Amino acid sequence: MPKRGKKQQGKNPKRRRSGQAPSQVTQSESASGSAEVQELEDVRGQPAVWANDRPSLCETLPWFQSHQGGVYQTEKVCHGFFLGGHGGPRDYIDDEIVITRVGGDCESNGNGAVTQMNDQSWNTRAVQSLRASQESGVAVGLIISKGNQPIKRKLPHELNVMGWFRVVEIWFENTNGKSGARVRFQKLDLEEPSWWAKRGSEDPPPISQRNLRLPESKICKGCLRSSKLVYEQGWMCLQPKSSCFLSGLLDDGTAPTDLTYDVNFLSSREPPDDHIKPQFSLVPNTLAELERFPDAWSQKFASRGVVCPECHKCIARRYWKGWMCHDPLDDNVITESAAPCQWKKILDVPTIPLKAVQEDLNVRSINKPVDKEWRTHIQQEAHSTDAYHRMTYIIGDVGKIVHFRANESILNKPKGPDDLFQRLQQADLGLYRYSINTRAGTRQLTKSFAANFGMPYKYVLSVRSKGFDEAPAEVILGLDRLKWATDQVAGKEASGPNELLALGYLEKMAMGFHDDGEDSLGPTIATLSLGANATMKFRLKDQYFRGSSRSHVLVADDAVLPGCENYEERKELKAQRNAGELTKDEYSKHRMRLAKAVTKNEGSSLITLDLRHGDMVVMHGSLLQKYYEHSVESKGKLRFALTSRHVKPEMVEEGDRVKGEYNPAPDQIYNGE
Ligand SMILES: [Zn+2]
Ligand SMILES: [Zn+2]
Repeated sequence: MPKRGKKQQGKNPKRRRSGQAPSQVTQSESASGSAEVQELEDVRGQPAVWANDRPSLCETLPWFQSHQGGVYQTEKVCHGFFLGGHGGPRDYIDDEIVITRVGGDCESNGNGAVTQMNDQSWNTRAVQSLRASQESGVAVGLIISKGNQPIKRKLPHELNVMGWFRVVEIWFENTNGKSGARVRFQKLDLEEPSWWAKRGSEDPPPISQRNLRLPESKICKGCLRSSKLVYEQGWMCLQPKSSCFLSGLLDDGTAPTDLTYDVNFLSSREPPDDHIKPQFSLVPNTLAELERFPDAWSQKFASRGVVCPECHKCIARRYWKGWMCHDPLDDNVITESAAPCQWKKILDVPTIPLKAVQEDLNVRSINKPVDKEWRTHIQQEAHSTDAYHRMTYIIGDVGKIVHFRANESILNKPKGPDDLFQRLQQADLGLYRYSINTRAGTRQLTKSFAANFGMPYKYVLSVRSKGFDEAPAEVILGLDRLKWATDQVAGKEASGPNELLALGYLEKMAMGFHDDGEDSLGPTIATLSLGANATMKFRLKDQYFRGSSRSHVLVADDAVLPGCENYEERKELKAQRNAGELTKDEYSKHRMRLAKAVTKNEGSSLITLDLRHGDMVVMHGSLLQKYYEHSVESKGKLRFALTSRHVKPEMVEEGDRVKGEYNPAPDQIYNGE
């Protein structure tokens, strides 16, 4: 901030000029040329890695996978730290030092400015992780966003990796009446020029020519703990949660409101320490690993992003077969130069045999799919044929779930599950990972690759849809199996599927809880699982589970369904209300009492299905989608799920309806064997 710089300079010009590090020169120069609006300076270099958006960054850098917040930690140690836009008062960045608030416990006002909401202390998670990095000698990677103000430089990209730093100081100050943690980072390699230094600036002096000084510190008489001399105004105790916090300077024990940094504190440097090291490589070497192990294309590490070898941008793996630096399908692409980088990597994807993705071929791990608390509420029916062991789970009037468990005898039939699994790996399905808004309010890529065929279907994903006439044969073969299963459950007279969503899951990919209900969809949804095993879970949606929203707004009609909290009491209250024994107000009052007493964070699963290669699941009943949600988690290195629905033609643009028409060839028709 120019004002403060000017004030400091006027107050103590000699002291200021005596600073040793090159950053000091930069700071005083920019301060002397201060105006109301600060001109941003050009930088001298380019970051080793950068990204256009947070999902690409988090998908690519192993040391920063936080889609939210400023700190990335594993096992309570911080490895990456994000410097956003505004920063707070007294945030400071020069060529070697970064001082900022630790973050967390804050609320944003929407303009990027943040207000501290809770006291922070040494027990705050983010503070603990930074302290652990400091104490165990783990370097922290810093990322800075283009809008960052304290740096006062024209940053080249939206998100820029600065490099490795070390945590040298953590202390606390008063932020809007709360104790807020602050951290000071020092660049790990002081001899390497910083790319964000001012253009034309000199290289940093070698360590041997520097006068390394540590900041002064003093022991507090109150708590007997040491604090550094951080502020120009004088020494204070900077230990939070002690009665002497911020004492030592003013007689009344409070801190001055307008603090500025002590110049020695800013110019001091910790001497180099070879024991401090990063635990990751700054730039991941995924591409080199894949050169060595081409069969590993479906494994976890290969599903991560790569850094473009030409322009150093983080590129998430959004394509089934690889990475494209300039992604023509990305709707959120930032306006790039007229000649965007053309680098891409298309993998060979050698076919992975079925046995390589299934660890326990013959064991069914879930013997009792219905949660024991609810077994009496869910009617179960079993029916076996040569091809399938069919299990039906009926949830009262809401609907039913039918699990067609494939017998081994059908798996290797021509055009059967084994065949489809092999062929789908090579088919040109156009599988792509779309970007979605999560419940946490962040933007992330789906944890599966998707392609839609038949009627356009816009729900969880806005997916471009190809007509069935353009679909690969594998899609039609899968669709006809699903049509057969749908007919078995809903009857042949019901509207059959006219849409198919193909999903590809690499290792550790999953589909979180969601429902498949929408006004434009028919009541029956069928899915075919191929490849690795998966677990499919059903549970009540949260508001029906607790009877209210999380902020205790009662649901309009309390359905009281299996899987809900306080089931018996809610059922009894509902009966009393229906019999006129309770007034509307009394009923609401009782319901509110029960809803507020719910302590569980989320409902447990009512039904858990063990999906095997060749299995199909049919969900039937629109109320099932209204009240319940489901999730699918793949258990192996490669899995496909083909899901079919009936999209009501009247809800689709007339010109698009033809896409849902499908006429299988005689040898594509599935007869249930
Ligand atoms: Zn103290
Ligand atoms: Zn590139």
